[in-house]
Amino acid sequence: MGERKKFYITTPIFYVNDKPHIGHAYTMIVADILARWHRLRGEDVFFLTGTDEHGEKIQKSAIAAGKTPQEFVDGIVDRFKATWKALNISYDFFIRTTDENHIETVQKFISLLQQKGDIYKGEYEGWYCVSDETFLTELELVDGKCPYCGKPVERVKEESYFFRLSKYREALLDHYKENREFLSPSFRAQEIINRVKEGLNDLSISRTSVTWAVPFPGDNKHFVYVWLDALVNYISALGWPEGEKFREFWPADVHLIGKEINWFHSVIWPALLMSAGLPLPRMVFSHGWWTVDGKKMSKSVGNVVDPMDLLSRYTDDEIRYFLIRSMPIGQDGDFSEKALAERVNGELLADLGNLVSRIIAIADKADVSFLGENILEKEINIEKIDKAFEKVDINAALEEIWSFIRKMNKYVDSTQPWRLKGEELSEVMYNLLEGLRVLSILLYPFMPRTAEKIASQLGTEITSLDDCKFKPFNGKIRRGEHLFSLVKVP
Ligand SMILES: [Zn+2]
Repeated sequence: MGERKKFYITTPIFYVNDKPHIGHAYTMIVADILARWHRLRGEDVFFLTGTDEHGEKIQKSAIAAGKTPQEFVDGIVDRFKATWKALNISYDFFIRTTDENHIETVQKFISLLQQKGDIYKGEYEGWYCVSDETFLTELELVDGKCPYCGKPVERVKEESYFFRLSKYREALLDHYKENREFLSPSFRAQEIINRVKEGLNDLSISRTSVTWAVPFPGDNKHFVYVWLDALVNYISALGWPEGEKFREFWPADVHLIGKEINWFHSVIWPALLMSAGLPLPRMVFSHGWWTVDGKKMSKSVGNVVDPMDLLSRYTDDEIRYFLIRSMPIGQDGDFSEKALAERVNGELLADLGNLVSRIIAIADKADVSFLGENILEKEINIEKIDKAFEKVDINAALEEIWSFIRKMNKYVDSTQPWRLKGEELSEVMYNLLEGLRVLSILLYPFMPRTAEKIASQLGTEITSLDDCKFKPFNGKIRRGEHLFSLVKVP
């Protein structure tokens, strides 16, 4: 046995100016599936999430709510944590940018960049979108408004510290060239490469007018730009620079993000790391956006989907399954409750639930001592699933698993085990029970509770990928409740 592999996966730290919606939930579910898969592989996994709690927008939202910024963010953080618990998200650490340790780390990081000669004082003059906490140039504005959210922008003219981002243009382009999977999925890479080729402006990294922020080290007039503060979370959570976790887990294997923050993660963050002399993450993977019933999700339209509301009508596993199935990873996806209900009644109840209840009902009566070759073994390609996971292609992995479910159902239909007796029944059930045991392990990252229910009815356990080899079935059948119930299609 060689050294155990490690796997460090992060989600963005979510901006807590409002409660979580299905976009946040999707990111968390994808990260959770990856983390659980790598744990099944026997790797040491560190799954990080958290909340981004500083900035002008939060300062303003707190005032509007009649609270101090700290009171305001504490309430919303509780809501995020409750939602992740209800969706069975297995993160290892939850970082908050208001944590004392994080604040000190940000200051230490900036001091290091100063020592490297990459920070200088100048004057920032330009536009600022409070809603996105983003500096904008005149050229970026669309009809004088923010190109991202369409809201009016503020004119900002103030003294500011700058990071020499422009210095890293060549090094970034070289890195993209030599590390093809760094910008993932590949179809999003060219856009970033083209923009970097056009040239990079130095980045304003401090404000004097925003005080709900990390104090800038060595200058009490200045506060750290919220994005710099936020990005440092990926190393402060590991206890950089001295922490044992930092030595064990850095660099990140996957920074999972939404495409709207690709620039910060694929350009600014690697440049900051280069300046600090730290290794770069293996992959920045940006996923797409959700529409709801074909329309953009927005507060003003009133179509924002709250996962807690969905959880009052559907189980965590049903929501997890639907969100993954409905968004080909990297592309955009559409949410509709009708489609969710249809998938529950179709794929979950008719395909999977039915398969399990048919097998368990007959298994009670069968002797499974047949010891021949398992005919279902060739119907599932576990290596293909594992390879798909390497590329974060969880849709391809799930598709392979689902095709196995359909093949098992066909096998039940064609052999009709309820009509069989003796050795014939023994052979068919020998194949099916072991197939179901392997399936329970493969399904676990996607639908952990359902997978555990299947294993419990088989009297087996969810262990590791090594146990996905077909062998004689040695569980003990315990009939249980049905996995899914018919839901009303709205
Ligand atoms: Zn904006």
